[in-house]
Amino acid sequence: MMSDPPIFNRLALIGVGLIGSSIARAARAQGVVRSIVVTARSVATRARVTELGLADQVVDTSTAAVAGADLVILCTPVGQCGRIAAEIAPHLAAGAVLSDVGSVKAAVVADVTPHVPAGVHFVPAHPVAGTERSGPDAGFAELFINRWCILTPAERADPTAVKKLAEFWTALGANVETMSAEHHDLVLAITSHVPHLIAYTIVGTAAELGQVTRSEVLKFSAGGFRDFTRIAASDPTMWRDVFLANKDAVLEMLGTFSEDLSQLTRAIRRGDGDALFELFTRTRAIRQGILSIGQDSDAPDFGRSHDRLPPVPRPYAAEGE
Ligand code: NAP
Repeated sequence: MMSDPPIFNRLALIGVGLIGSSIARAARAQGVVRSIVVTARSVATRARVTELGLADQVVDTSTAAVAGADLVILCTPVGQCGRIAAEIAPHLAAGAVLSDVGSVKAAVVADVTPHVPAGVHFVPAHPVAGTERSGPDAGFAELFINRWCILTPAERADPTAVKKLAEFWTALGANVETMSAEHHDLVLAITSHVPHLIAYTIVGTAAELGQVTRSEVLKFSAGGFRDFTRIAASDPTMWRDVFLANKDAVLEMLGTFSEDLSQLTRAIRRGDGDALFELFTRTRAIRQGILSIGQDSDAPDFGRSHDRLPPVPRPYAAEGE
């Protein structure tokens, strides 16, 4: 039986960290492109990508990477996309699909669109998948399986280009959904950006507390704090750019969040157990909903493995045992 032909001939990735390297691995594993060319900003990353053998070609500049590519994906922090688009624009092949993976969409659309030459199809995308790790070693081919990839094409976007990019992401295991860039930013503000901000805040606050010593915070972190520290370990550059680029939606969601937090504060102050119980019951149901649509594992304690119980010293063991 003949296997399906590749969806694109030549894939160019600008930036090859967690997301870029995962795309390279998955695209190769699935045979959805004939060849892969990548570039990154630093010599060290380019050398590491060569060592890992993630691409057919590793080049020094973005302009060299895009030459002859029919799919170009920007996989850098969102703040870099406009500048890179300006740089590569004159070198993009006619008919190429230009995309990105940024966690914020409206700002990327505003920064990139003015540079897109006629005949090149810009289809912004956001694979909603990731970990707190960065760099080419952090990526893996399975990252996008059963995760959403949101496309935010302009209304006038070329339907064939959108369809081909959707097929590409589907082949990488993702479920593809299309929405406006503005709606994407609002949805992601509450599902991803504000939760990250809360994690950054609470980890920062705990680290500054006087009464509870720093070593105690670390020692007893399994009481909930530890899971915030994982999120708060996410890449500082990426997340700085996310909050700068999605300012309005984040501020809107933070407003609502602050009101809810005030209500909860009041319930605690007044000893209103019913209010607390009602909220915690509702949130538990939301968690069940996430599990039932397969967006997380049901394993307790986030699937961490647990040590065996230690043998109990038995000074009083009965004789003969
Ligand atoms: P990452 O692991 O830190 O990798 C970023 C890559 O971009 C590196 O290869 C870096 O090169 C390169 N880069 C940075 N500035 C550049 C420039 N000016 N020119 C060329 N290359 C440049 O980041 P990531 O986690 O893959 O995130 C990349 C994008 O994916 C971001 O826009 C982020 O919003 C989005 N995203 C991230 C996640 C997540 O959970 N991490 C999830 C979905 C989407 P050097 O190594 O040489 O510096």
